[in-house]
Amino acid sequence: MLTRRRVALIAHDQKKDDMVAFARDHRSYLASCELVATGTTGSRIAKACPDLKIRRLKSGPLGGDQQIGALIAERNVDLVIFFVDPLTPMPHDVDVKALMRLAIVYDIPLALNRATAEAILEQEEAATPATGR
Ligand code: PGA
Repeated sequence: MLTRRRVALIAHDQKKDDMVAFARDHRSYLASCELVATGTTGSRIAKACPDLKIRRLKSGPLGGDQQIGALIAERNVDLVIFFVDPLTPMPHDVDVKALMRLAIVYDIPLALNRATAEAILEQEEAATPATGR
């Protein structure tokens, strides 16, 4: 049975444009994945790429990061792409840290910037040429 790759997408406000551009660039591969995203990130991607089916959780500051952490702990995520803004203090910094910690604990690939996310997806797209760019 073919299993779809389960990918979690999160971007802080200053990185959302980057995430939308990234999702557009990789839309055909991402369309083959099971996508989950924090609230606002998910809405922005869905608006830009209406063909992508995204399960939207709560907004990050309202518990969305923790929901993704729970998915990691339950082994329901294969890859986390999290475009972090390192220059803005955030009220939910502890949640962000907890999510990262769980990705490390459960040894889930975690891309914290676009260069890493590009490197991972390029590899995955090469392994599934039909869905490549
Ligand atoms: P958002 O949450 O996608 O709802 O903005 C992301 C975050 O700030 O952690």
